[in-house]
Amino acid sequence: MSIKASYIKPRTLEEAVTALAAGEARILAGGTDFYPGLGDRVVRGAVVDVSGLGELRGVRSEADCFRIGGLTTWSEILRTPLPRCLDALKSAAREVGSVQIQNRGTVAGNLCNASPAADGVPPLLALDAEVELVSGAGSRRMPLAEFIVGNRKTQRRPDELLTAVIVPRGLEDAASAFLKLGARRYLVISISMVAVVVRVGNAGKVSEARVAVGSCSAVARRLRVLEAELVGASVRGGLSSAVRREHLDPLSPIDDVRATAEYRMDASLRLVQRALDSCVENV
Ligand SMILES: Cc1cc2nc3c(=O)[nH]c(=O)nc-3n(C[C@H](O)[C@H](O)[C@H](O)COP(=O)(O)OP(=O)(O)OC[C@H]3O[C@@H](n4cnc5c(N)ncnc54)[C@H](O)[C@@H]3O)c2cc1C
Repeated sequence: MSIKASYIKPRTLEEAVTALAAGEARILAGGTDFYPGLGDRVVRGAVVDVSGLGELRGVRSEADCFRIGGLTTWSEILRTPLPRCLDALKSAAREVGSVQIQNRGTVAGNLCNASPAADGVPPLLALDAEVELVSGAGSRRMPLAEFIVGNRKTQRRPDELLTAVIVPRGLEDAASAFLKLGARRYLVISISMVAVVVRVGNAGKVSEARVAVGSCSAVARRLRVLEAELVGASVRGGLSSAVRREHLDPLSPIDDVRATAEYRMDASLRLVQRALDSCVENV
């Protein structure tokens, strides 16, 4: 039996999109989802290894946004000085697998793999991040909330490369937190995870709140009713008492080997409460 496979490692973005233009190649970045996803199978078809595209690495501060290159690894996120609203993304970076995985795994790979348990999604969703997609036909942007449409499903066309994640400015001074619960402390797929962003105004009241929960629905969800109700709340004594079970209605957790749906809801409630409190404890 012959197995047809080809491997291309472009040196520039232009070479990469040219290689992807036929729309039949698979993209390889850090490979930390790509290879486990193959299981016992061997690679077939064309592979475009984008890991050499240095131009897509690193975080840039721009006039209206922070631009996170798609090929930025989790270790690079951890090493980069970033505003407070991205503390949650840093905490998530620390939770992605092990240090070895963080050294290889990229932000784009995490988003494009579109696992319901992808740690990078809730912190970016909470910041209204957008993704930038580039192909031979040009470039387009869309909200991350629209990009991931289901379990392992995105709106990426086969000829498109995710080149950057765009985090709009405006919440830089807001506190943020990410909490993840797994069956053990380290190297674990989450039962639930929560990212929150809270900005507090001069009178000690919440002026902006964002809450996103992952691993409790096919795609991570924002809790918009809770976000709206938190605005104006006094931060004295913490925010946990403002969180009620019905705020979790957008979630639709499943029973699986890691936890029951009921346990996931209970855990999510506690994580949201703790994450919100941690953002305002020193105000
Ligand atoms: C032991 C282990 C533990 C892990 N633990 C965690 C964890 O705790 N939390 C977590 O969230 N993840 C975890 N992961 C998954 C993985 O490490 C992350 O999702 C990582 O960010 C994937 O990035 P990558 O560069 O390795 O992606 P790859 O494996 O290279 O690619 C993943 C997918 O994205 C596509 N892709 C990659 N880059 C691009 C791009 N620029 N444009 C378009 N498509 C692209 C690929 O074609 C592929 O379909 C773990 C993996 C392993 C092996």
